[in-house]
Amino acid sequence: MQAHARAVVIGGGVVGASTLYHLAKIGWSELLLIEQSELAAGSTWHAAGGMHTFNGEANISRLQKYTIDLYREIEALSGQSCGLHPNGGLMLAATAGELDSLKLICSRARYLGMETEMISLAEASRLNPLIDTRHFIGALWRADGGHCDPSGTTHAYVKAARQLGAKVERFTRVLSLAQRADGCWDVVTDKGTVHAEHVINCAGLWAREIGHMVGIELPVLAMEHHYLITEDIPELRGREQEIVNTTDYAGEIYMRQERGGALIGTYEPHGVVWSPVKTPDDFSMQLLPDDFERLAPYFEVGFRHFPALGRVGIRKAINGPFTFAPDGNPLVGPVRGLRNFWVACAVMAGFSQGGGIGLVLSRWMAHDDPGQDILSMDVARFGAFATPRYTSLKVPENYARRFRLAYPNEELPAARPVRRSPVYDRLQAAGAVMGANFGLEHALWFAPAGVPPAETPTYRRSEAFAFIRAECQAVRSNVGLYETSNYGKYEVTGRGARAWLDRVFACRLPRRGRLALAPMLSPAGRIVGDLSIACLADDRFMIVGSGFAEEFHLRWFCSSDPPADVFVRSVSSTLNGVSIAGPRSRELLQRLVRDDLSPGAFKLFQLRQTAVGLAPAILTRAGFTGELGYEIWTTPDYFATLYDELWDAGRALGLKHFGGRALSSLRLEKAYGSFNKDFRPDYTAAETGLDRFVDFGKVDFAGRAAALAERAAGPARRFVVMEVAAEDADVIGYESIIKDGAAVGYVTSGAYGHCIGASLAAGYVPSALARDGERFEIDILGEMRSAIVRREPMYDPQGLRLRS
Ligand SMILES: Cc1cc2nc3c(=O)[nH]c(=O)nc-3n(C[C@H](O)[C@H](O)[C@H](O)COP(=O)(O)OP(=O)(O)OC[C@H]3O[C@@H](n4cnc5c(N)ncnc54)[C@H](O)[C@@H]3O)c2cc1C
Repeated sequence: MQAHARAVVIGGGVVGASTLYHLAKIGWSELLLIEQSELAAGSTWHAAGGMHTFNGEANISRLQKYTIDLYREIEALSGQSCGLHPNGGLMLAATAGELDSLKLICSRARYLGMETEMISLAEASRLNPLIDTRHFIGALWRADGGHCDPSGTTHAYVKAARQLGAKVERFTRVLSLAQRADGCWDVVTDKGTVHAEHVINCAGLWAREIGHMVGIELPVLAMEHHYLITEDIPELRGREQEIVNTTDYAGEIYMRQERGGALIGTYEPHGVVWSPVKTPDDFSMQLLPDDFERLAPYFEVGFRHFPALGRVGIRKAINGPFTFAPDGNPLVGPVRGLRNFWVACAVMAGFSQGGGIGLVLSRWMAHDDPGQDILSMDVARFGAFATPRYTSLKVPENYARRFRLAYPNEELPAARPVRRSPVYDRLQAAGAVMGANFGLEHALWFAPAGVPPAETPTYRRSEAFAFIRAECQAVRSNVGLYETSNYGKYEVTGRGARAWLDRVFACRLPRRGRLALAPMLSPAGRIVGDLSIACLADDRFMIVGSGFAEEFHLRWFCSSDPPADVFVRSVSSTLNGVSIAGPRSRELLQRLVRDDLSPGAFKLFQLRQTAVGLAPAILTRAGFTGELGYEIWTTPDYFATLYDELWDAGRALGLKHFGGRALSSLRLEKAYGSFNKDFRPDYTAAETGLDRFVDFGKVDFAGRAAALAERAAGPARRFVVMEVAAEDADVIGYESIIKDGAAVGYVTSGAYGHCIGASLAAGYVPSALARDGERFEIDILGEMRSAIVRREPMYDPQGLRLRS
């Protein structure tokens, strides 16, 4: 075996094979894939090989399309067939909610360039005559997708990679990994040691064990999964074309043709975790015993919905394990604190996603940038909260919901609560309906007394609509309280802090006692953060950003080479926060603060290190509602006291809680974008409009050259907020924005603007069309709605209330 490699890929399943191919394709040499057994011997060989472009995240959908399109390329390069059956896909709806979901998929697919349409049940039955259409009310057809041969596909990747010079060692087991001082790795195997610059964990069912070799606990767990292959079905005899692969949401069934019979699989509730603690070393090319007794009721639903399947015998049953992350998306990317160690694991749809994962990972390794926004599959979306117990509760929940619809207003219950703020019980007592962000419970909206704190899952406006409106109105007319503990918070200290931050962030750093809005750019000029920086002292800064991105931002800070005299740490669990917003917020706060809060004495973006009632606190004049407002930060031991005192002081002023849903409405009325939704690494400073906070006069900051070039050329598209003629449903996200029949952009977020009385959609449109009054159309759940660009915020365009 070779003694040195530029990169060692651990694992020869479909994901490792794709990673090897893409690294070779991007031009890396000295590549070695190490496989303990035969190629595809883990979960890959017994997969059903289904492939499709459907994913709730637009960028993952795009990568799935890339994966499917890639198969012809690797077939041509390798001469190895992938066994493609590109017969497209059908999705069946049995309820009004499922039908809405299919319409949303259609609206999204248009901008992604995917051929997708709603079809009649008669048409569906023509494409798959085995469907008993009496069980359904609607169907979606998509051209992309079908199925492939799992083993052939894996071999095609590997053969194509070999053509490009990559090497493969089969029947060689990685036993341990040891990092050298220079960041390189000694990959110790049962056939000798390879010295490698980079290591990639593509170990699938064993990814957890490879993680243990480097001291990390990856949130990944395997579940058992069954499918059956029937004997030949008379109804399929003589057909010229295979039936279209079909997903039945109500039945939680997928089915497709397999030779003269059918393959039918189910994602049953109460699925079985496989090998919860350790994957056996010798589990290679193996299957698990059938469990028909447990699964019979679920397959019987399939036999009712596709009756011909129940009339023939079962030729073969497959039960095999494969892995999931807690939210069902893959874990991809570098791991904070481990140099040159990469992961590409927890891939539950390897034949839809493997190619895309190889593509972004190879770019990330070669260019330090995945080349597109992949936040939803970035390993950094999980932090310390994703313990093995958390994973063991979330993965079965996700498995059971694999074919259930994810409603936009639905909060999943497993493994909750994990992280609670000191006022969690108080908020619950006040009627809070909670969501979880990075494991932390936070209030979405508040059910008034006598109203159950629950919401019916829907794609349309829910029963919470009126209560959210009341919260918004309280903020605009009076004063509201919102807990901000779920923001990501960091402290940067040390003599070199200011100089380092000045390079990492694109904004002008604030003077002592002030804060600044702080975009953070990648070297390619893309938005990797939209944070705020508060200067507490010349060598002490507090940074606040999105809570979900805590690990992502910490990894970014660490990889931005803080020098020895700069100390960066998360203070997310050691600092709690609350926002007081509304025209009476000053009056409220002045009752608890000795400092003069009058407009001249405490201006927008100033801060004080002071006491708010009994709590020592950092007080900033800032907020996200567009009203006069303050954020107060204190440590957990004081937080409940602070909350109680604010509440006591505010009661007489009509203080009201507001939650995340109201905040979304209030911010869009002000046309404020939000990181994760509107501002993501796909967009640039000028496209987002965050260039107004960029200090182009600074000689050195990450992304400067790209931002300057963009400033000279002008952005290709722009972030806009539109007023939408919606009726009972507002946009959700990723719906296509249509101009003269063509999709020109997509929606990034939306809400009903309760205080301006209009439905709002934010998104990106070509710069030439980003004009006030420009008209578009947006397909909301199958209805074309007109959308008009409003270049000025629809609420308080001059910002007088914010500055009041
Ligand atoms: C019954 C069933 C049906 C499925 N149907 C579909 C489907 O229709 N469509 C779809 O897209 N997906 C399907 N899947 C999921 C699919 O199988 C996975 O997404 C895919 O196989 C994941 O591939 P992988 O490369 O990540 O992992 P694996 O295939 O598990 O590969 C990991 C490899 O790493 C090797 N390895 C591990 N540790 C070491 C070590 N220490 N040293 C050297 N080598 C090591 C292993 O031997 C293994 O070959 C199905 C899965 C099952 C079980």
